[in-house]
Amino acid sequence: MAKVSDILGIINKIAPPGLAETWDNVGLQLGDPSADVSRVMVALDATPAVIQSAIDSSCQLLVTHHPLIFKAQKSISAATPQGRQIHTAIRNGLSVISMHTNYDIATGGLNDVLAELLGLDRCVPLQITSEQELAKLVVFVPQEQLDNVRTALFPHAVCLGAYRDCSFSAPGEGTFTPLEGARPFIGTVGEREILAEQRLELLIERTNLPRAIKALLASHPYEEPAYDLYPLLNEGTKRGLGRMGHLPQSLTLADFAAQVATVLDTPGLRFVGDPGAVIRTVALCSGSGASLIRAAVRLGADVLVTGDVKYHDARDAEDSGLALIDAGHFSTEIIMVTTVQRQLQQKLSEAGFTDCTVTACTVETDPFRITARQ
Ligand SMILES: [Zn+2]
Repeated sequence: MAKVSDILGIINKIAPPGLAETWDNVGLQLGDPSADVSRVMVALDATPAVIQSAIDSSCQLLVTHHPLIFKAQKSISAATPQGRQIHTAIRNGLSVISMHTNYDIATGGLNDVLAELLGLDRCVPLQITSEQELAKLVVFVPQEQLDNVRTALFPHAVCLGAYRDCSFSAPGEGTFTPLEGARPFIGTVGEREILAEQRLELLIERTNLPRAIKALLASHPYEEPAYDLYPLLNEGTKRGLGRMGHLPQSLTLADFAAQVATVLDTPGLRFVGDPGAVIRTVALCSGSGASLIRAAVRLGADVLVTGDVKYHDARDAEDSGLALIDAGHFSTEIIMVTTVQRQLQQKLSEAGFTDCTVTACTVETDPFRITARQ
């Protein structure tokens, strides 16, 4: 059965914690990493209603977007609303994991999901937060074990565009003399060995090196595998907040805003700009993205789709000739629930945890309601 730590490992692959903003608090918020999990619920917020729903659905793990614990706590008193939630979760054996800005930034994460829903293509990050640092791992492997070692390393290797399992190997000769105390896989103590080996090379993201080396040592037959690590100057993939992409065909701002409202299933939304303005290049940032107005202007976007826009942000965009669509924090982020549910369920079954069910929370609603004038 899957443990909380197994699922955290899978979530860390979907949304690597190293991508999170420094002010953020992602990962295990509370719970026991060694606890068994047969049911997981995914939600946007760990509200009292969501925690109760997870408990009523016999879930042992709740995965949320917004962190349950954001600031350092000096006490956890059940007399406060947040303290009560933490007490309720712990009393009912419910662990909580949050994937926040790491999921916003991750490839295939929330902003990519939003970009796909809006029909954008050729997307790039709106504001770069990190660039992949690459290393080359070179390891010398006996011919017969080449495929074993290569296969063990592939999950840790860098994808080149839409290509995974990228490696190179070339044949050569290795030499060694086992010394007293050695327990050689091949050869005899005191006798020089010359044997056919393959030089296997892979590109690895530097933050992934510890995991790759662990996999290398576990799969390599030698007592002392010989391997080299080279730092590289190659440009890695740039990752960042928000996305900018292109519509397949131009729309007026009014038509595009209506399309956004439909796609995100909102009862209404606010927009800034001339309704007849032509929209082709679209910047977006799920949640609160008004801080990216300058980046959107700089990159030449026609419109920024986000939430939580304040009056002076709207004026700033208006003065800069950038249209703005405020579709709401909730509507631009609630879309993560079904996507993470699907991604997590698939990765769990790929990892062999077929008895673990992931459900999407259905009790969440936008705290803001919209009324028409009377
Ligand atoms: Zn948010």
